[in-house]
Amino acid sequence: MTKCDLLIKHATLITCTDNGQMCGLIDNGAVAVSGNKIIWTGLSAETKSFDPLKVIDATGQVVTPAFIDCHTHLIFGGNRANEFAMRLAGESYEAIAKAGGGILSTVKATREASIDELVDLALPRAEHLMSQGVRTIEIKSGYGLDFDNELKMLKAAKKLQQQTGLTILTTLLAAHALPPEYKDNRIGYIDLICNEIIPQAAKEQLADAVDAFCEGIGFTPDETRRVFDAAARWGLPVKLHADQLSNLSGAGLVAEYGGLSADHIEYTDEASIKKMAESDTVATLLPYAFYALQETQKPPVDLFRKHYVDMAIATDCNPGTAPTTNLLQCLHMACTQFGLTVEEALLGVTKNAAKALGMDESKGQIAEGYDAELLLWETKDVADIVYWQGHRLPKHI
Ligand SMILES: [Zn+2]
Repeated sequence: MTKCDLLIKHATLITCTDNGQMCGLIDNGAVAVSGNKIIWTGLSAETKSFDPLKVIDATGQVVTPAFIDCHTHLIFGGNRANEFAMRLAGESYEAIAKAGGGILSTVKATREASIDELVDLALPRAEHLMSQGVRTIEIKSGYGLDFDNELKMLKAAKKLQQQTGLTILTTLLAAHALPPEYKDNRIGYIDLICNEIIPQAAKEQLADAVDAFCEGIGFTPDETRRVFDAAARWGLPVKLHADQLSNLSGAGLVAEYGGLSADHIEYTDEASIKKMAESDTVATLLPYAFYALQETQKPPVDLFRKHYVDMAIATDCNPGTAPTTNLLQCLHMACTQFGLTVEEALLGVTKNAAKALGMDESKGQIAEGYDAELLLWETKDVADIVYWQGHRLPKHI
């Protein structure tokens, strides 16, 4: 007999592995867990040799891997609801910015907040994601925009991990916007990022990756290369906010650096997608930001399929363009807006999201040796999870 802590039987098992079935389906499946690892998966009929401490009969239930939100700006100070109301009342974006609004209002509030205050503000956002079955979250800096405050944001993310028990991956996004102090000195700010912020984040092990906003209103491809070169010197993988509002070939650029993911990518062309395929860079789709900005240019999903580029889905939770912590709604939106299938949507928050974080050997699949983070859903039909926009929550996590 093989001892195990937990045996789940009679489940509609969605393993998210490549077993030849949709989403790695195993009908009447079972999974055995010891400690915090999955030690076996297979058919319920094959479980006679197990001696479990606890058994869950999952008849009539779907079991999936826990979800992963692989692109968020979950930590920030302040609130921009007032700007939302101003825009609805007809104020222009420029007028709002002049009145101290926009991203710089978030920068100001984030700089004024302590680490504990940032954690307190982020906690309910993290808890809402957790209620939807999320166990791993990526969190970016990018509202500090100076040495102390960028590192402070990363420390807050680490502290949030301690408080919640979530796995939190941190990404340094100092190249998010040009801080007001450097508005006439772009090179000076890139120097600060490359020569001081990235080295310190690496030395203190505060960042798991480095990101940038490569866009006409962000940083140029050449500036982005400098940031990526510095990341490479410190052994940090890269990812990129790429081709969101225009095609600067950002997705191709991050692929040249062997990047983990290219994110947004509405305007990405086939040349860049071929590079992504070569470097196995994940395409991270952010349907909520697409909706909130009322964009019309959709990401080239057919080309990602054609070149076998894996697609992930994330909330992009941020106070400007994606005020949401509803990952389940984002799954639904990726299907309705971008034409993903149910299977593609589920893989987008499990296996492919894990890959976008460099964690595809421990998370996002129900397979031997993977972390035992499982969701039980009270439904027989896996499409139900994607069909409801966040109403249907996992019964057990
Ligand atoms: Zn973002």
